[in-house]
Amino acid sequence: LTAQRETLGLLYFEPREDVAERSPTPEIFLRMLAENIGLALANLRLRDALRGMAMADPLTGLANRRQLEAVLETRLGEADRLGQPLSCLMLDIDHFKQFNDRFGHDAGDAVLREVAAVLAYVTRDEGLAFRHGGEEFLLLLPGAGPAQAQARAEHIRERIAALEVTHGTIHLGRITASIGVASAPEHCPFDRVVAAADAALLRAKALGRDQVVLASKRAERGAA
Ligand code: GH3
Ligand code: MG
Ligand code: MG
Repeated sequence: LTAQRETLGLLYFEPREDVAERSPTPEIFLRMLAENIGLALANLRLRDALRGMAMADPLTGLANRRQLEAVLETRLGEADRLGQPLSCLMLDIDHFKQFNDRFGHDAGDAVLREVAAVLAYVTRDEGLAFRHGGEEFLLLLPGAGPAQAQARAEHIRERIAALEVTHGTIHLGRITASIGVASAPEHCPFDRVVAAADAALLRAKALGRDQVVLASKRAERGAA
């Protein structure tokens, strides 16, 4: 089986012994069949590759915002239906622009990759870590309530602060991140969990960065 000059596999035909055929299937028919199957497989592969490219962030390998939108709706609906909590962590690297300014854009990219690697590692089971944009990341924790989500966030914050990132021979110094945590339905309705985590992140920044701030019902009422 070949398509677009690539070998996809082997198709094997065998005459049936239990059926007395009047004449064997013409070879040209088998060739056409193989060609069609090959093309169909190549198309499926291409579609998978394109989808992967459209959904993944090329720099960090994490899922991108487009994929978040697709996943979010399903997960929110599922949690709501099952009556289970769902938490959202919104994470932003502190003073990230300084890494770019002091060491160059490539060094900034290295920081993004290292932070993303931490997030990919801590979410290796569910795989629900996303690059939300720039130096901002989002994690979904289905089934986690406020206390559990806060503990996960604190763990992540510590892991990031412990990173030792070098670019070439230059040590880039301490990296810290601020994290906003919101949990539905405890803090807000399901469809507001991302906005509530975002608001909590803003407070973490205002309170001095390098910290985790949990959303509160009161803050959510104020925002609404
Ligand atoms: P704060 O603590 O308030 O978050 O400060 P900050 O410097 O992290 O925030 P700010 O939003 O001012 O800067 C974010 C910078 O991230 C600006 C932008 O140039 C840079 N940036 C966005 N995407 C990328 C990227 O893919 N690579 C690199 N190297 N830089 C990026
Ligand atoms: Mg930032
Ligand atoms: Mg930012």
